[in-house]
Amino acid sequence: MQKQLKNKINNLAPYKSAVISLFALVGTTICASMGFLGLYTENYPLTATLFFASFIYFLGFYVCQKHNNIQLSAAIILYSLYLLMFYLVFTGGVAQTGPLWIYIVAPVSLFIHGFKRGLFDIAIFVLIIIAIMFVPTDIANHADYPTEFKLRLIYSFLTVTFLSALYEFTRENALKQTLELSQKYQFLAHFDTLTNLSNRRAAYDILKREQSRISRNNEVLSVLLCDVDYFKRINDQYGHNAGDAVLVELAKIFTEQVREQDCVSRWGGEEFLFILPQTSAENAAIIAEKIRLSVEQCQIDVQSSKINVTISIGISQFKNSSNIDEVINNADKHLYLAKESGRNQVQPRSS
Ligand code: GH3
Ligand code: MG
Ligand code: MG
Repeated sequence: MQKQLKNKINNLAPYKSAVISLFALVGTTICASMGFLGLYTENYPLTATLFFASFIYFLGFYVCQKHNNIQLSAAIILYSLYLLMFYLVFTGGVAQTGPLWIYIVAPVSLFIHGFKRGLFDIAIFVLIIIAIMFVPTDIANHADYPTEFKLRLIYSFLTVTFLSALYEFTRENALKQTLELSQKYQFLAHFDTLTNLSNRRAAYDILKREQSRISRNNEVLSVLLCDVDYFKRINDQYGHNAGDAVLVELAKIFTEQVREQDCVSRWGGEEFLFILPQTSAENAAIIAEKIRLSVEQCQIDVQSSKINVTISIGISQFKNSSNIDEVINNADKHLYLAKESGRNQVQPRSS
């Protein structure tokens, strides 16, 4: 279940790739236009930095689109954004307004790296920004901000970070819950919750798929309809819970007996349907006999009692022209015959 959830989250990759590409394009455009503005105001170091940043963002876009490497592209975008912010805070940008851009760091970091890693990245970012602004240095071009401005910049940045983190936390949880719920409903729609076998609907879907394959490739397929003998007596004697436990044990035995390509499903109550692709009725009878014998020879431990169970099986083979209901009805007729002929047997018998 956990693995399936991870797969589902991975399936969101195209969405993430689209957003990362969008970030990269926005970064490319904004940096390029600010670069041209810098050119106009003859601020050449800033212009060069912005054009270089624009190129790096475009590189991020290229890596995402051409190589589909979302992680690398995200890292290029995020960390080049950090470097640009360090530069703007260090130099002050145009008229000391450079630090105004740092607010975009919080939402971008959290979107790209998620709640935990995003917060970690932001913490490192803030420490470096504090060092740039507060540690005295003689380096030329180092902007000199009033202390009040520096403190308020950090406070307001932390507030934006808190709100962005809260939003990201809620978003991640909501997404996880939605995916879990969808997994749960998908499971309920296709599997029987008692035995974990495919349910009737899933078995019917498999038969429909197999039916078109059979007609395409001229293959054979057989089904086995299996019913527990005198199951009512087990319920009456040991109770309904014991009856349930017997069904669970039978499901395990059945799963062990069939091949990888076969399917065992709970067709209803104490009836099971086996779908055996590429199996003629003669071979199906051999497999059915093996299954019948393994159940007969097994003593099922339930509530410190050992219960002996037997099953009856009816076989039917799919032919090119037959439809699913006909095949199931035919298996049901054979099952009825097996019951009538004394139970604990397979019909038709293997010759
Ligand atoms: P036979 O098939 O050999 O003719 O006899 P039977 O006693 O098995 O036949 P029948 O179909 O009349 O009874 C099936 C019983 O299975 C009736 C029902 O109470 C029980 N049953 C159906 N589903 C479940 C289930 O999920 N759990 C339990 N414990 N019992 C179930
Ligand atoms: Mg029965
Ligand atoms: Mg029955």
